[in-house]
Amino acid sequence: MQNIEELKRILSSPKKVVIIPHQKPDADALGSCLALKGYLNKLQHEVQVISPTDYPQFLAWMPENESVLMCESYKETICKQIILQADVIFCLDYSDLARIAPLDTWVSQASAIKVMIDHHIDRKAFAQFELWKPEAAATAELVYDFILLMGDEALIDIPIAECIYAGILTDTGSFKYPSTSSKIHRIVAKLIDIGINHSKIHHYIYDTNSENRLRLIGFALKERLTILREYRTAYFALSSADLRNHYYQTGDTEGLVNYALSLEGIIFAAILIEDIDKIKLSFRSIGDFSVNDLARIHFSGGGHKNAAGGRVNNAKLEEVVQQFVSILPNYKEQLISV
Ligand code: 5GP
Ligand code: MN
Repeated sequence: MQNIEELKRILSSPKKVVIIPHQKPDADALGSCLALKGYLNKLQHEVQVISPTDYPQFLAWMPENESVLMCESYKETICKQIILQADVIFCLDYSDLARIAPLDTWVSQASAIKVMIDHHIDRKAFAQFELWKPEAAATAELVYDFILLMGDEALIDIPIAECIYAGILTDTGSFKYPSTSSKIHRIVAKLIDIGINHSKIHHYIYDTNSENRLRLIGFALKERLTILREYRTAYFALSSADLRNHYYQTGDTEGLVNYALSLEGIIFAAILIEDIDKIKLSFRSIGDFSVNDLARIHFSGGGHKNAAGGRVNNAKLEEVVQQFVSILPNYKEQLISV
């Protein structure tokens, strides 16, 4: 961060602070927000986390989860008011305001100082202060760095450390992605020294499945997985009826795409999920094949080289499946060479 001294000066007296994760926040987005909230509360700021949408139940254990304001339609007026009255707005785990709709309009209008902390590749400039590092494994790693830059390592307590750990745990794929640096392990060592119970956090995030979720995963694996060996690609396509039939809850398809990527010989995996007004796509790859580029070019999205997402608004699932399959020949050389 270029002008940390200036931000320190701003944060040296109590402020009205709003912290916003991206839509459908994951453990990194929400954990980063709640860790930062815990820290800023200690500096006597008045802090409100506002999530653009709901998020998975397996994140509800996070300290201060109950204080998060979810911007459902009947709460839009209050969310708008809080955003427009804020002194400082922190944007965590995205660098494009399109990812926080419907809050983006109000954040753009707000006179607040904006601070962006993020590790996604394609950055759009909208904040006066940025801690943007695409090589970071998680935004939670950058929140940890931010607290250190502020000179406040000693203020990291167990609740803050737990939220940071959750973000790091999930965004490194439980410490298996190439982004897992020695620095990450050193941070985690410090979090363990502070006193987090890492086994408990792993359990809450990965081992609290509902029966419906397991049945949905079983169904998807059996009935909705297509393997295209000639492109070293595998994908799931789930319709809204598939989800309804399995009593889908937000988060139930989280991680499903990784089963497709785990197939021997497969280096590119996707999941296409039908929603009311859009088809949401998630992509994963192994090695040099950039799903960030593919998501950006074809599906109005982005993310990281090996994990990205996108969408097609107001389309039918079958159409988007066809579109997805039809672009594969453009990438055949890359897919078979890496
Ligand atoms: P996931 O597939 O788990 O939803 O997301 C994978 C990665 O891509 C995450 O880092 C996520 O923040 C990012 N991502 C997901 N959807 C979008 C999108 O629509 N636009 C952009 N720019 N990034 C996305
Ligand atoms: Mn992240």
